[in-house]
Amino acid sequence: MRLGVSRTFALQLMAWLLAIVVPGALQAAPVAVDSARQYASCLASGDIARTPEQIVAAKGWNCAAPRYSLKPERNVLRFELDHTRTLPRYLVTRRSPYESLRIDAVDFDGTRRTLSYTPETARPSAVNGFFHAGLPPVTDQTREVIVTLDRPTHAMTMEQAHLSPNDPGEHPSVQPLLTMLAALSGMLLMPVLFNAAFYRVLREPFVLWHAALTVTLMLTIFFNSGLSVILVDLSNSQLSKLTTLAFGTSVAAGGMFAYSFIEPGKMNPRLRRLLPMAAIWSLALSMFHAFFPFVGRAWQTDAYYAAFLPVLLLYIAAVANSLRLGSRAAKFQLVGWTPLLFVGVTRLVSQFVDALPATDAMMLFYVGCVFEVIATTLGVTDRFMLLKHQRDRARTEAQMLEHMTEHDSLTGLYNRRLLEDRFPELRNQGYSVFALLDIDRFKTINDTFGHSVGDDVLRAVALALQEDGDALAVRMGGEEFALLLRGQDAVKRVERLRLAIPRHVSASVEIDRIVTASMGVCDIPMDVLPAVELETIFRHADRLLYEAKAAGRNRMVSEKVGRFPAPTERRSAFRNKAVEAA
Ligand code: GH3
Ligand code: MG
Ligand code: MG
Repeated sequence: MRLGVSRTFALQLMAWLLAIVVPGALQAAPVAVDSARQYASCLASGDIARTPEQIVAAKGWNCAAPRYSLKPERNVLRFELDHTRTLPRYLVTRRSPYESLRIDAVDFDGTRRTLSYTPETARPSAVNGFFHAGLPPVTDQTREVIVTLDRPTHAMTMEQAHLSPNDPGEHPSVQPLLTMLAALSGMLLMPVLFNAAFYRVLREPFVLWHAALTVTLMLTIFFNSGLSVILVDLSNSQLSKLTTLAFGTSVAAGGMFAYSFIEPGKMNPRLRRLLPMAAIWSLALSMFHAFFPFVGRAWQTDAYYAAFLPVLLLYIAAVANSLRLGSRAAKFQLVGWTPLLFVGVTRLVSQFVDALPATDAMMLFYVGCVFEVIATTLGVTDRFMLLKHQRDRARTEAQMLEHMTEHDSLTGLYNRRLLEDRFPELRNQGYSVFALLDIDRFKTINDTFGHSVGDDVLRAVALALQEDGDALAVRMGGEEFALLLRGQDAVKRVERLRLAIPRHVSASVEIDRIVTASMGVCDIPMDVLPAVELETIFRHADRLLYEAKAAGRNRMVSEKVGRFPAPTERRSAFRNKAVEAA
């Protein structure tokens, strides 16, 4: 039987989304293409104790093949102005922690104008992790712009530094991009709402981890993209911290989700145990890197990326292992993680292969985040349906078992055990007439027509006894039944039930004999009822039944019992007795 979200359907949907979204994401330029951009042509770097002028004087400009390394503390970038283009107003580059930034505009006649920035004073741009710093006034007379960047922590900040007439966050193409990202983030709210609903029903931790994962991915998109720049006033360094923390937290939440979501027995226990450790590791790494970016400044970013490599490998191993063990959940994980793993690999490779410019594949990353959420939400829904089905079945089985312990299997009536368990409750509900009914000469029916006809008779009698909606019929065993009644004329009503037996039996069982029953009935006044025990009533009713049998069968002997006799005064209690023979 197919349950929940059909797997083929889910996989088709994934493939369809991938086919539409990934090529677009790969093509989308991370920064609006700006033809007036001017990149640095020369680099000089050296010790922070020297002034930029001293560094240039000592080492000269490297203009042939500037190679951006994080080792030198002070990096001087030279931008020769191309006066055929629009004059620049900003230095624009990738955001990452650095100590300080100085910008000099140098005129042909040697005049120099200087502005200095800290990461707090340069403003973030509303586009994929860029920031901009206003240039000192640049005119037709300006020959070059010299940028001195002290203690950078990411090569991208130098590689992607350029002069531009505009803040890239204000480019017309940014608005639609941000609108799309806002819509994507909004979409991610839906799974969080689903999770809240699922959790109410399932109480499974993976539902909470899925919500955590979704929220952290939303935050990742929010802080990485320009959305946070537009909506909250954060400085460059605050944004860098939050971006790093959101990343580490989402990696951790992803690991914890896999840890709790993959079915028991469908992942190697050692791999599973490693997942929470990887989550703690990711959290610790991102916290350290966010708050202490300068401890190992020149190598820390590399080390930070490299430290995620084991996490990446563990996640791949965990999904691969679960797939091999036949996990259904792992299929959703595989689909959800693929684009993000691809981003992870792209980042690691571009970080460590010098020939490639470092990239963080931002658009693919955003799409990957959304993809991950969609795939895992489908997975969670699928599991929800599966677990709900299992629980419903277990509940039905439990109900059946309960029914079996309380009901007689031949007649479907309540059994003696139920009567014994529930008697105090029934007494409180006002059942005040108690009858014991026994089929007359039942043994001869069995002997004459066979046991199975005897069973049919028992079933027919049970039906007859259920005709009064306010009477409770119980099969006590064999061909003996108990009836409990409350309300008006209960004694008359119970006698009516007894009298209905011959009619019911002859209507449904083919025997040429009238089947009758005898009955002993205790009618207990309300003031006596609260104190009386089942066993006492039972004993008394049994005695009345015996009297009915002795008096010739097919009759009722009833008694309004004013007081139940102690065992020694039995005889005198037989008062108010009525014998009704049919
Ligand atoms: P009396 O009028 O004195 O009650 O006579 P009786 O024959 O009804 O009483 P007795 O207790 O001698 O016989 C009861 C018979 O009921 C004996 C037993 O074989 C039969 N019996 C008990 N349970 C079942 C059952 O579940 N199915 C069938 N077919 N017979 C049963
Ligand atoms: Mg009998
Ligand atoms: Mg009997």
